[in-house]
Amino acid sequence: MNERSTLSKAASNIFGQPMFQVLSKIKEKERRGINVIHFEIGDPDFPSPPNVVEAGCRALHDGHTHYAASIGDHGLRDEICKANKWIRGFEPDIEQVMIAAGANPIIFYATACVADPGDEVIIPDPCFSTYISVMRFLGVNIVPIPLKEENQFRMDPEDIKKAITPKTKMMIINSPNNPTGSVMTRSELDEISRSARENGIYLYLDEIYRELIYTDTQMYSPSILDGCREYTIVADGFSKAYAMTGWRLGYAIAPIRLIEKMGLLLETIASCTPPFVQKAGIEALNNGHAHVNMMRSTYRKRRDLIVDGLNSIDGISCLRPDGAFYVFANIKGTGLSSKQFAEKALEECNVGLVAGTDFGDSCEGYVRLCYAQSEDKIIEGINRLKKKEWKK
Ligand code: PLP
Repeated sequence: MNERSTLSKAASNIFGQPMFQVLSKIKEKERRGINVIHFEIGDPDFPSPPNVVEAGCRALHDGHTHYAASIGDHGLRDEICKANKWIRGFEPDIEQVMIAAGANPIIFYATACVADPGDEVIIPDPCFSTYISVMRFLGVNIVPIPLKEENQFRMDPEDIKKAITPKTKMMIINSPNNPTGSVMTRSELDEISRSARENGIYLYLDEIYRELIYTDTQMYSPSILDGCREYTIVADGFSKAYAMTGWRLGYAIAPIRLIEKMGLLLETIASCTPPFVQKAGIEALNNGHAHVNMMRSTYRKRRDLIVDGLNSIDGISCLRPDGAFYVFANIKGTGLSSKQFAEKALEECNVGLVAGTDFGDSCEGYVRLCYAQSEDKIIEGINRLKKKEWKK
């Protein structure tokens, strides 16, 4: 290989999403006829709501198959403004809203528009792996805040305050959280938002799991404090709440000066978000509630099933999280590393799950399981894990 064929430093820093890499391994096993239980990927096993599918098909037949406005269709942006009143308690201006192909790319668009190489971004540890990949790719320094099991994996606002430096540009909060399922309290969120405002730091709220809270407390977003007009960026999407992962639809609400730049970046990279998908999004927002409620109550039962099942296995202990559809199980009693445990689960039990270390450096001794699977599959997966002698 000659000098010119080497890759960029940025390319060597890309981390990707390790759960997709586990999924490819599983697909390979399945091609060989092996039955595997999928606890690895955060993809609802429910079909997308039928009325949403119909709206998408109708839009295709009606010819919504061309380029669209890069920032998003006026129709969906307008619906998001209105829906935001019941979701987060305020109605943003339409110029504050941008549509994207999922919440995932918004992490890149927002970070690239607020932080320069060498700047710092505060993120939870463990966290959704895209945060790590994006920061490394952009040369932005990650400042991890450990989510401790003894604090039910919630971020401690005091830890965040101590981590702020003159180089801090943004802090990311993800509640309900992937991979732990933890849900921050209203007072914690308000305190973090105050720190962001006082220090002139952007507050990035990844609220993709906002519909998946299993306690009686209402979802609360601290974005109401500035209406996303000054320093708050909300990222949300249709994947998890409406079981629409394959449609690729998400949105950001942020200060106009930032949305304008993020829109130009999206235009540069993706041109626009497919218009027929956006039409389906309008239907989901307006008429998706019954489906969401049904899925939420089903997930709640599945959560209890998987938590009780894991806690019945020697060497494993697992908290009962309040949100999302993941559990972050403590496997320290098995004496195995997270990677070893995940490998053995896949190779010896045909159960796919993800090593805790794929979500952050502090997560040795944990594995993540997604319970967006049928009760039968959860029972079968637990039985397979239970048959193995894990304890040292
Ligand atoms: N944010 C978090 C915390 C996630 O867990 C995910 C997906 O797993 C995303 C964002 C991206 O979701 P999507 O791009 O499918 O909207």
